[in-house]
Amino acid sequence: MRALEAGAVEIGDGVEPPEVAPAPIGAVRSQEGATQPRFLCRGCYFLLEAAPGTTLADIRADWKCPDCGTDKGNLRLYRAAG
Ligand SMILES: [Zn+2]
Repeated sequence: MRALEAGAVEIGDGVEPPEVAPAPIGAVRSQEGATQPRFLCRGCYFLLEAAPGTTLADIRADWKCPDCGTDKGNLRLYRAAG
């Protein structure tokens, strides 16, 4: 009695689980609109680079400028010309 006829798969039939391809890590960031936001300290023009998608609201309320020590209230979203 053959297993194939019973609907089963015999070992050695060439049916193997697909190899799991390693997911690309650090995929290319090519999505439009996923640019890295930057925030400008109006006290000293320090430029804070944040993770993509970060808004001013995401900045910690107790954030302090590492340069001049001013607080988040002086931080503004910085848009590069062009
Ligand atoms: Zn500052």
